[in-house]
Amino acid sequence: MKKTDISDPQYFHKVVDCQWACPAHTNVPEYIRLIAAGRYTDSYMLNWFSNVFPGVLGRTCDRPCEPACRRGRVEEKPVAICRLKRVAADLKDDISDRLPAIPTKKNGKRVALVGAGPASLAVARDLLPLGYEVVLYEKDQRGGGAMRTQIPAFRLPESVLDEEVDRILDFGVECHFGQPVQSMGWLLKQGFDAVFVGSGAPRGRDLDIPGRQEAGANIHIGIDWLASVAFEHVQKIGKRVVVIGGGNTAMDCCRTALRLGGEQVTVTVRSGFDEMKASPWEKEDAMHEGIPILDYHAPKSFELENGRLAGVWFEKMRAERDDKGRRTLVPTGEPLVLIPCDDVLMAIGQENAFPWIERDIGIEFDQWDMPKLDADTFQSTHPQVFFGGDAAFGPKNIIWAVAHGHAAAISIDLLCQGKSLDAQRPAKGVTLVSQKMGMHDWSYGNDFAATQRLAVPHADKFKTLKNIKVEVELGFDAEMALKEAARCLNCDVQTVFTENLCIECDACVDICPEDCITFTTNGDEAELRTRLMAPATNLDQPLYVSDPVPTGRVMVKDEDVCLHCGFCAERCPTGAWDMQKSLLKLPQAGGVCHV
Ligand SMILES: Cc1cc2nc3c(=O)[nH]c(=O)nc-3n(C[C@H](O)[C@H](O)[C@H](O)COP(=O)(O)OP(=O)(O)OC[C@H]3O[C@@H](n4cnc5c(N)ncnc54)[C@H](O)[C@@H]3O)c2cc1C
Ligand code: SF4
Ligand code: SF4
Repeated sequence: MKKTDISDPQYFHKVVDCQWACPAHTNVPEYIRLIAAGRYTDSYMLNWFSNVFPGVLGRTCDRPCEPACRRGRVEEKPVAICRLKRVAADLKDDISDRLPAIPTKKNGKRVALVGAGPASLAVARDLLPLGYEVVLYEKDQRGGGAMRTQIPAFRLPESVLDEEVDRILDFGVECHFGQPVQSMGWLLKQGFDAVFVGSGAPRGRDLDIPGRQEAGANIHIGIDWLASVAFEHVQKIGKRVVVIGGGNTAMDCCRTALRLGGEQVTVTVRSGFDEMKASPWEKEDAMHEGIPILDYHAPKSFELENGRLAGVWFEKMRAERDDKGRRTLVPTGEPLVLIPCDDVLMAIGQENAFPWIERDIGIEFDQWDMPKLDADTFQSTHPQVFFGGDAAFGPKNIIWAVAHGHAAAISIDLLCQGKSLDAQRPAKGVTLVSQKMGMHDWSYGNDFAATQRLAVPHADKFKTLKNIKVEVELGFDAEMALKEAARCLNCDVQTVFTENLCIECDACVDICPEDCITFTTNGDEAELRTRLMAPATNLDQPLYVSDPVPTGRVMVKDEDVCLHCGFCAERCPTGAWDMQKSLLKLPQAGGVCHV
């Protein structure tokens, strides 16, 4: 193997598992250390620059960082990264003097945003400090997109959402609420320098089975129904409710129904419980509230009584695997099951829809009727038009919408300056800073003792079920946050090896609790991985390889299970190992870096 180039920003970035997995690449270990130090405002600002909605995301993020967390590889459960973010949001001080200044003299460029969801708001947040005029069109009366219309208040209080949405709007967005864009042709004629489409995936899927039309008055499309609840157009539902679907929308529908008068709320899903798309914690919360989830139930028809919905007939299914291990669902042959109900909530997926974009104005669509986009720049085939969030590649989540918004804002800024969106795109960088404070002292806590993940306390169920606006999760207090923060392994504090200082005493090899370090003859990566102190089987994690040391061997370190404990550097008599913090520099629009 070639000597590892640790100056490549991607190298250590990948070792910081949580930051690598976060679509917005939030500097997780740094914000966790700031929380542990009681510096909540600093922690909030670090989050805000990368993920824009720390208070919202600290409650609702899909948390792709957590399954990636290194703590989860050396112990059962990852660090509660997401809930720690909420602590920063809950305990911060006033941040108004920390926000970027918005120039009063504008730069002469105007950008239109379609939709006021997290994708568009992230674009606005990045472009307004650079002097852009930003004009927003939103069909609803308020900003926030699906964060407001879909996520129920018992998971995301309105005050938290308002604070983070209004902060951006108050930067000086020209808002046209209640004004849907009905024609892209019209929008393009308004003389904008660029247009960003962040219109989401607004169409809920329907189920065309017998009785659908006749029972229509009591069958509701989940996402439309949740939006009506959010705007208080709907305040009650029948006593017996069947929710069809197994994703997060189904979980929000059933828990909302329970709060609007549903007494017998049942979730039905065609596939097995373990295959459901809903996040495990969303399923747990629904079941904790007493909602049964019936798996392997495929809806067949709606039962009517006097022209009104009376129930849903289901066919029971089972999973079967073919020779290649592919799973299909087949009926069990048992008699159909009737679940009596007064209302049905349909939560079987969302689709994109762009009826307002004319197909002859230079924006090409693919066979799935999705806009053709450059995956890095988010530019469509019309050079001035960009897409992001759910409108770009289909329904995802808030943190992806934010990440798209940052990338599109960089592109829009380059376009407006007449620069190339690819060749002149600002590059990532990395700095490495030694954490040595004394002989055996580091600037970070390097205790890696096994400790259990703390559960977030919940409010009293009897209170939360009575009022849709009472938040279920209470969040960690400062003391719990400190304990949970201590579980973080500081994966950004890297082991850096300097071969010409190494005297091959093997002290680091002996002391390493994880057998990460091997001195051996060089070889191909695949072969080398098999003959290390412990075989390096996780191909997602790199091997760190040095130049030859005096005897001609190389140092090979498997980054996979390193605890970043620094024992190797403490034991090394010559300082060949050092613990250095890697700081990833991620540029945003205007080349600005917040690290
Ligand atoms: C029930 C449900 C629960 C969810 N829960 C979570 C969660 O807990 N965590 C998470 O991370 N994600 C969650 N999501 C997904 C998340 O909300 C979305 O992925 C995210 O909001 C997408 O952001 P966006 O900016 O692309 O679009 P959206 O947030 O959908 O915003 C699009 C906006 O565009 C407006 N609009 C559409 N067409 C037009 C037009 N022609 N003119 C003007 N305005 C228009 C819409 O009114 C809307 O306000 C959930 C989704 C649903 C359906
Ligand atoms: S242990 Fe800490 S730094 Fe490492 S992946 Fe988990 S949260 Fe991130
Ligand atoms: S920091 Fe050094 S001693 Fe600690 S686990 Fe990693 S390689 Fe081993």
